[in-house]
Order: sequence, then C-alpha cells, then structure tokens
Amino acid sequence: MLNILTIEEAHRGLINKEFSSRELTKACFSAIKKQEKKLNAFITLTEDEAFAQAEAIDRKIKDKEEINALAGIPLAVKDNILVESVKATAGSKILSTYVAAYDATVISRLKRMGAVILGKANLDEFAMGSSGETSFFGPTKNPRDSEKVPGGSSSGPAAAVASDEAIYALGSDTGGSVRLPASFCGVVGFKPTYGRVSRHGLMAMASSLDQIGSLTKTVQDAAYVFEAIAGQDKFDSTTAPKKANVVSSLKKSIKGLKIGVAKDFFIKGMDENVEKIVKAAMKKLAELGAELIDVSLPLIKYSLAVYYILMPAEVSSNLARYDGVRYGARCEAGNLLEMYLKTRREGFGEEARRRIMLGTYVLSAGYYDAYYKKAQQVRRLIKEDFDKAFQQVDCLISPTSPSVAFNLGEKFDDPLTMYLADIFTVSANIAGLPAISIPGGETSGLPVGLQLMGKHFDEATLLNAAYQLESIL
Ligand code: GLN
Repeated sequence: MLNILTIEEAHRGLINKEFSSRELTKACFSAIKKQEKKLNAFITLTEDEAFAQAEAIDRKIKDKEEINALAGIPLAVKDNILVESVKATAGSKILSTYVAAYDATVISRLKRMGAVILGKANLDEFAMGSSGETSFFGPTKNPRDSEKVPGGSSSGPAAAVASDEAIYALGSDTGGSVRLPASFCGVVGFKPTYGRVSRHGLMAMASSLDQIGSLTKTVQDAAYVFEAIAGQDKFDSTTAPKKANVVSSLKKSIKGLKIGVAKDFFIKGMDENVEKIVKAAMKKLAELGAELIDVSLPLIKYSLAVYYILMPAEVSSNLARYDGVRYGARCEAGNLLEMYLKTRREGFGEEARRRIMLGTYVLSAGYYDAYYKKAQQVRRLIKEDFDKAFQQVDCLISPTSPSVAFNLGEKFDDPLTMYLADIFTVSANIAGLPAISIPGGETSGLPVGLQLMGKHFDEATLLNAAYQLESIL
C-alpha cells in the first residue's frame, strides 16, 4: 500500500530506508493493473523506464548520496506533455502513433531530480473538454464513482492521483483543466502564474492561456512540485526570471491575511450544497485569523464568453500544424488538398473540429473586430478588475465548479452546458493568475473543490493560505 503515500511521506520513507523506490514504483503499477480496466486513466505505461529510474535512485540512497524531495517518487504525466521516445497522443487519433522527439522542459527538470515516470495519462483531445470524454482513447472514470466523469481535461492525471495509481501528476490548465478534475476527484490541483513554468514541450492549445500545473494529494506536495518545475527557460520566452520559494512559507500563520470574497462568483444555478461548503470554508479562514473582505469583480460574468472566443482562435492556429505532413497520421488521397482535408476530417474528433471552425470564424476578416478584438479588449478589462481587487486583498476564494461531478454522457451532446462547468476557472487563465483547487468537503458522496486565486507570482501567499485552510478542514 505504499502507493497511498504523499510525496512528503514517500520521501521520508526512502531516506529512512523503510522501503525502496523500486517497491514504491511496484506498488503504483499494482494499483494501476488492478484498476485500469475500470478507470482508463492511462494511455501509455512506461514500466521498464520507470523501474530503471527507480533503481538508479535506490543505488544513490544505498551509496548514501543525498536525494531531493522528488527523487524516486512515481508520477503520471498528461499525454500532451512530451517525454522523449515515448508516445505523445494528446488524446487524439491524429497523434495516436506519434513519438516525442525530446523532453518537455518540465520533464527534463524532473528527470534530473530523479523522478519516476509511470506513464502518460488520458485527457480530453488536445486538452479540450471538461469531462475527459473527448479522448480518442475513451473516457476516464471518476475513481469516487465510476458512473461520473472525473472532470477534464486532465482527467487521467486527476483520476490516477485520486485512485493512488500515482503519487502525483502533471497536467495542463488552459481554462481550468487542472483545477476542475481536481475538484471532481477530490485532490489538489494547482495552476501557477502564467510565465512561471515553461511550456516548452507542452502541446499548445491556446498559448496565451496554457500553463502546466500539478495534481497532488496535498498542498505541501503541490509546493514541492512547483519548486521543481518553475523557473526561467531559454526555450520559452514567456517564462520569468523569478525565484520560486514556496515550501518554506507554507506553515506561516495567516492571521491578518486578507481574503476577498466576490459575490460575482456566487451565481444563480449553483448547487446549494457547494455554496454551503464554500461558506463553511470562509468561516474556517476567519477562525484562522484571516480577514474576509467583500470585493467586486463586475466583469467576471463575461469571462466565459471571452474565453470561448479567444481560446478557439488560438486553437485554430495552433492545430493548423497537424496536417498529415508535419506530424502524426496521414490519410492517403488523390491530391495534396484532399489529403489535408481527409487527414484533418478523420484525425480530429468532433470537439476539436468545432473549436477549429469557431476559431477560424472569429479570426476571419469581417468578424475579427466584432469578436476577437472585442474579446481581447474585455480580457484587458477583466484583468483590471482583478488588479483592483488585489489592491485590497491577498487572495480570493470561490468554488472551483458550480456543481460536483456529473454523470458520464450527461453533457456530452450539449457543448454549451459543458462549457458552463468552466465558469469559475477560466478567469484565472484570462488574467494569468495562479489558482488552486483543494478538497473542501463532500455532498452526496462526491468531493467539492474550493478555489483560491492569488496575485501574479505570489504563489507563496496563495499556497500558504491553501495549506492553512487544508489543515483546518
Ligand atoms: N474545459 C476547458 C475547455 O474545454 C478548459 C480546458 C483546459 O484547461 N485545457 O476549454
């Protein structure tokens, strides 16, 4: 049962020689073998490489070398993040045979630290979805209830961590894809500030919104992973040259910390029990000495509309490279144009095609000003709303999602209703803010996530608040 440990516990066990990394890795693969038929959290397993990585760390421990917090600890990697010489499908038919030529920066950093990669985890196709159901490799099931979706698009990473198949996982978050599945599966999902973690080797969905984040069992674990993967990277010019020190301030008291509550987040139609759980968490924060302050984010109501214009616009451009020539599968046809058309028609699923068409439309001459340009302008105003709020407060609290996990199939044929699941998460990406979802409680046996958002590059305060809240819940 070593697989149920957190990063912190596993690290302690390794350095105290209570067990080896090989045993820890084996425990994860046993859990995977036992549950995968039901869960479908992984697309590819990398068992041989994992054991080789584990044994290398075990030798270091035997030789009394010092090891870092992530050495020898097994993780799952969302299948839109490249691991050299391993298949990288992005959950799409068009890349179902594609093998990555290099490591993403986050992966080379983790490998250098001695991390053990169990395999590549399932996701909505190209990270587009909120339920995990758009994957070409079939839906992932929620470990808490296999009739329910695990949330998306990091469906596999969240399910793998929640079911103890992996100690932690990496995901990507363009509009909530780390936080929503964390909320639905009852784990911690953390998206750092835009520009904090290199996107080199993350398959681009919407480049101005994408960010790599973590799925972990605790906030402390999220802090460890963050310190390991954050930092400037010469392969991603949007990364900032800032130090990422968060672990050392987790245990600080949050007495006097100002936490903003925006009524704009408490919308009609929200599940009553979700609202109750968020309100109860606010009381707990007050017990810890935090000061709750009402703030106003009047334009947040436009964030979903802004997101579903800007995101598809960037998607349509980023997905243009999958044309049967440069990457992945090709359908043979009589001439070049037919080959492009057939490859893309057959290679992409319905949701990907819907977004490519929407994006092409909002970028086309005649509609560009009315949609794309307008959405960019509103994006700036939403960011200014946050800037104003953050002059008064250190963090914001809200639900992660208006509901708990819904049934598989329930929203699949109704994209608009599906998009509503992202209502509380997309604004952090629009404004580039760090945000975390932590388990807040349960209603009808399903987990409810609490979301905290922080100031740009102030992950230290955000994680400190999340850590304190987690410990009192
Ligand atoms: N659910 C959102 C979408 O479908 C978010 C996706 C993401 O964060 N990758 O666009």
